[in-house]
Amino acid sequence: MRLKGKVSLITGAGSGIGRATALLFAREGALVVAADRDAQQAEKTQKLIEQEGGQCEAKCIDVSQEEQVAAVIATVVKTWGQLDVLCNNAGISLLKPVTTTTEAEWDKVFNVNLKGVFFGCKHAIPQMAKQGNGAIVNTASELAIVAQPLYGAYCATKAGVLALTRVLALEWAAKGIQINAVCPGPIATPMLQAEFDLADDPINEEKLAIKSIPAGRLGTPEDIAKVALFLASEDAQFVHGAAIVADGGKTIF
Ligand code: NAD
Repeated sequence: MRLKGKVSLITGAGSGIGRATALLFAREGALVVAADRDAQQAEKTQKLIEQEGGQCEAKCIDVSQEEQVAAVIATVVKTWGQLDVLCNNAGISLLKPVTTTTEAEWDKVFNVNLKGVFFGCKHAIPQMAKQGNGAIVNTASELAIVAQPLYGAYCATKAGVLALTRVLALEWAAKGIQINAVCPGPIATPMLQAEFDLADDPINEEKLAIKSIPAGRLGTPEDIAKVALFLASEDAQFVHGAAIVADGGKTIF
C-alpha cells in the first residue's frame, strides 16, 4: 500500500500504460481519477478498478485544452481536498517524414504530448506547493533520448517533456514536489500496435522491434506502471528531475 490515502490523477488512463498505472495505483491504496479524452475507455478503467475493490472516478478531458485540465484539477481538489500525484501520460504518435508533415499534424502532436504536460504541471503545482508535497510523473519516451526515422515531431515533443521536467524539478524541489519522467521503450499497447499496423508486414515489424531490445521482448504496460509507482511514492523522495529509462536495454544496444 505504497500510495495509501493518496489522491492521484492519471491522464490517458483509458488505455495502455495509463490504464495499467491507474490499476496499480489503486491496488497500492490510491484514489484514482482516470482522465482520458475517450469517456467510455476511462469508465472501463473505473469499472476494472472498482471490480478489484479500489476507488476510481473517470473524467473525460482533452489534455490539450487548458480549461479542461484546470477544471479537472480544481474538481479533484474541491472533492478530496488534495492532489498528491499527477501522471501526465496522455500522448499520441505520428510516423511521418518531417518534409511531408503538415503544420496541423505538427501542432496536434505538440498540443497533446507537450502542451498537455505543461497544462497539467501548471495547474497541479500550485496546489502541491500549498500542501508542501506532491509528485508529478511525466511520460516521455526513449525517443526523447535516441532518434528513430519518421518520429521527428514525436521525438521533439518527448525531448521537450524531459526539458520541462528538469526545469520544473529544479524550481520546485525545495517545496517538496518530486517531478520526474519515465522513458518507456516499445511497450505492447494499442498505440504501438497501430504503429506496427502501418507497415506492409506488421508481424515482421514487431519481430524487428523485438530484435532491437536486448531483453528479447516488448515491454508491458505494467513494466512502466511499476516505474511510475516508484516515482509517485515516498521511496522516490530524493529523486528530482530524473528520466528513468525502462526499455529492456534498447537505448544501450
Ligand atoms: P495508448 O494509445 O494505448 O493510450 C493513450 C491514451 O491517451 C488513450 O486512452 C487516448 O485516448 C489518450 N489520449 C490521447 N490523446 C489525449 C488527449 N488529448 N487528452 C486526453 N487523453 C488523450 O498509448 P500508450 O502506449 O499507453 O501511451 C501512453 C504514453 O506513453 C504516451 O505519452 C506515449 O507517447 C508514451 N509512450 C508509449 C510507448 C509505447 O511503445 N507504447 C513508448 C514510449 C512512450
